[in-house]
Amino acid sequence: MADGLSFYIMRKLVLFDIDGTILWTDGAGRRAIREALLAEMGTAGPIDQGYRLDGKTDPQIVRELMTAAGHPNAESEDHVSRICRRYVEVLARELQVTRDRTRLFPGIVPLLGELEDRGDAVIGLLTGNVAEGARLKLRAAGIDPARFRVGAFGSDAAVRADLPPIAVRRAEPLMGRVAWGPEVVIIGDTPADVTCGSCVEARAIGVATGHYTREDLMAAGAFAAFADLSDFASVLDAIYS
Ligand SMILES: [Mg+2]
Repeated sequence: MADGLSFYIMRKLVLFDIDGTILWTDGAGRRAIREALLAEMGTAGPIDQGYRLDGKTDPQIVRELMTAAGHPNAESEDHVSRICRRYVEVLARELQVTRDRTRLFPGIVPLLGELEDRGDAVIGLLTGNVAEGARLKLRAAGIDPARFRVGAFGSDAAVRADLPPIAVRRAEPLMGRVAWGPEVVIIGDTPADVTCGSCVEARAIGVATGHYTREDLMAAGAFAAFADLSDFASVLDAIYS
C-alpha cells in the first residue's frame, strides 16, 4: 500500500515496551549498566541491593543509582549521557556473549505479524531504553527493529510520561492525524507503562511477563491485562474494541 493512502485506514497507534514485554535479556541490561557506571564513575551504587530497573528509563536508572551512591555528578546531564553511551558499548558486547540467553515472550511474534497483516495500525516502541540499546536488544532477540515504524525512547526523555506525546507526534505523518485517547494503545509489563499515557488518554494493555501480576496492572488502570500475549485474538480485541 502506498504510504500516501495508508493514513486513511490507520485506526490505531500501538506502542510496545521492550524489556519484560517483548523480550528478556536475562540480565544483560543490568550487567551493562553496572559495568558502565563502574567504568565511568567508579561506583554502581545499590544496583545489586534489590534496585528495580523495570518501568524506568535508562537515564533515570543512571541518575537514581548515582544519587543513591552520593555521587557529586548525579545531576550532570553530561555524565549521564556519557554513562549511557558507555552502556550501549557494553550492552552490545554483553548481548553478543550471551546471545542464546535473550528470549522473546510467547505470542509477540504472531501478534506483530497479525498487526502487520491487518495493515490498520502504526506499530511503534515506547521504551525506557536509549534508542541504540533498544535496537541492540531487538536484534539480539531476532526481531528487525525496522518493524517498529515510530519510537519514543529513554534517549528522548528521562521521564516515561514524556514519551507518549513524542511517539504520537512522530506517528502523525503515518496516522494522518494526532492520535488520541483509545487510538493510542500502550502495551507493557509495569504500572509505569500503564500510567505513562494518561496525558494522551491512551489505552494501556498490561502483560504479566515481567515482575508484575495481571492484578497489579489492572489496579494501575490497565484496560486489560494478560498473562502473556499468546492469546492474540483476545489481545487484538483489547486493542481494537
Ligand atoms: Mg518493561
